[in-house]
Amino acid sequence: HYQPMIDLAANRIVGFEALMRWQHPERGFISPGLFIPIAEETGLIVAASQWALREACKALKRIGDRTGHFKDLFMSVNFSSMDFATGTFPEDIANIISSCDIAPEPIHLEITERLLIGQPDRAREALTLCRQAGMGISIDDFGTGYSSLSYLHYFPINILKIDQKFIQEMRRNDGALELVRSIIALGKNMKMKVVAEGVETAEDAQELRVLGCDIAQGYYFAKPMPELDVTKFLREF
Ligand code: C2E
Ligand code: CA
Ligand code: CA
Repeated sequence: HYQPMIDLAANRIVGFEALMRWQHPERGFISPGLFIPIAEETGLIVAASQWALREACKALKRIGDRTGHFKDLFMSVNFSSMDFATGTFPEDIANIISSCDIAPEPIHLEITERLLIGQPDRAREALTLCRQAGMGISIDDFGTGYSSLSYLHYFPINILKIDQKFIQEMRRNDGALELVRSIIALGKNMKMKVVAEGVETAEDAQELRVLGCDIAQGYYFAKPMPELDVTKFLREF
């Protein structure tokens, strides 16, 4: 599925996050929260991630062809630590992207803070190659890894995604609002695009707009949706 990401200042769709879905023939829908950790433990995540990237690239290409919007849309794809363990991550990714006949620039790799802390040297090497090839690097679930902030300039990150728990907290108490304000300022000072996840209400969106957050994603705008609904959503938004 693909979840739209909205430029808050322009009120425009600027991209999508690809989120894996598993419709099991007997068990029905299985949450990624359940199967991703198992895929990580068993190593199946490497093949799954490559599949997800290929599907997302092909979808971006088709969406662009259908809507004429291609140039200004990006596609953000999630990766796990196992993906880096292969040693051929940058080549594999670049090959998949080029085989789908799209440029690397609209492809953003989402990596969690935890992953970067766990294997800093390997991750830095791989991500630097991906960044040099033109891909975007997005730090996912920012603020949940309890790390030192020094890694922010150690890695070639150009997008910072504020974890949705901060946005939820912001709704309930004013202290959290100041925290979100500070994270946005931090990202901007580091010359990163700042994305807020889990935006569920018009108030959240307005608050974040005032704080100068660049991009928002969440149920208020749209839930993750199948590719066919994306075209419709792009036309109607
Ligand atoms: P994530 O990368 O942090 O993805 C965001 C999750 O928040 C998604 O859950 C999305 O559906 C959900 N979400 C979006 N907007 C809202 C909102 O307004 N409110 C609330 N409450 N939730 C919202 P989902 O799709 O269930 O995915 C869960 C996690 O599974 C993802 O968290 C990610 O860590 C992992 N995942 C999903 N697809 C992939 C994948 O292709 N590869 C890898 N490695 N991990 C994946
Ligand atoms: Ca993500
Ligand atoms: Ca996230």
